Amino acid sequence: MSNLERRPAELVADCEATSRGVGADGVVLLEPRDVPLGGPRAMPVHRTLPQRAKSTIGGWCFLDHYGPDDVSVTGGMRVPPHPHTGLQTVSWLFQGEIEHRDSVGSHALVRPGELNLMTAGHGISHSEDSTPETTVLHGAQLWLALPDAWREQDPFFERTVPIPTRIGGAVARVFIGELAGASAQSTVFSPLLGAQLDLDAGATLELEVRPEFEHGILLDLGDVTVEGVEVPHRHLAYVPAGGDLLRLSSVGGARILLLGGEPLGEQIVMWWNFIGRSHEDVAASREQWQNEVIEGADASGRFGTVADYPGSPLPAPVMPTVRLKPRQ
Ligand code: MN
Repeated sequence: MSNLERRPAELVADCEATSRGVGADGVVLLEPRDVPLGGPRAMPVHRTLPQRAKSTIGGWCFLDHYGPDDVSVTGGMRVPPHPHTGLQTVSWLFQGEIEHRDSVGSHALVRPGELNLMTAGHGISHSEDSTPETTVLHGAQLWLALPDAWREQDPFFERTVPIPTRIGGAVARVFIGELAGASAQSTVFSPLLGAQLDLDAGATLELEVRPEFEHGILLDLGDVTVEGVEVPHRHLAYVPAGGDLLRLSSVGGARILLLGGEPLGEQIVMWWNFIGRSHEDVAASREQWQNEVIEGADASGRFGTVADYPGSPLPAPVMPTVRLKPRQ
């Protein structure tokens, strides 16, 4: 997925917990911001990362939640070829199907319960469209910031399918990292966790987690409390590092995404679909995308070509007139 805002804002973190609902144990509820994704009728997505109160959770730096959307109303997902640098994209579906094409030659169908992980590294371009068979689209799109040591690597695309595992009162699909003995096969570049948990009605879980990890819990369906704090629909509950148990419970059952990771510990500059380390980094990426792909100067350049896409690539927005500032 792409950040399709025509005037993407620069984001500077102040690291203060300004959102409502700070619980006794330090849980911070991050509210979603509604953003139209584009397409003929602008499918709405609900963005909980990045935001002022919290810009990253471990390496997780972007989280769009969407659906269930009636595709006959919203037009579905229509995201033409666009570039990425310095990050990995994580596509995770609950319902529907998305066709992925990219400039390293991948052509894949993203389906529920299967992780589609694209490592942009130095540069890649890709497109994402819901398939004609899709009537309801429901899922999440996330980005992982690559650590500095790994951000210039060659791009690649990977699909892995986690085995559903029962952990107490929940079924877990661990698609990144490890939880309660269930390990994902996906390739990531910093200590991370990503999992879908389906909680039974009446479930009370005490998950053993790594104390150096901070966590985020997104509520997709049903009801859930995190450390006793009730999480509203589509909100992301932030739990700071330090604990070695994460307590979750549900009255009527729930579907959640559980994210975690060691705080990134690096300043990043994030604008549109690029992550760099300086304003100049991002400006150079934008310039190359515009010259090589939009102006058609070099189809074999940094961002390559998405073969067989029936449409034109996305031009980059104009950069802000002020310098992009790093954030942590
Ligand atoms: Mn994308």
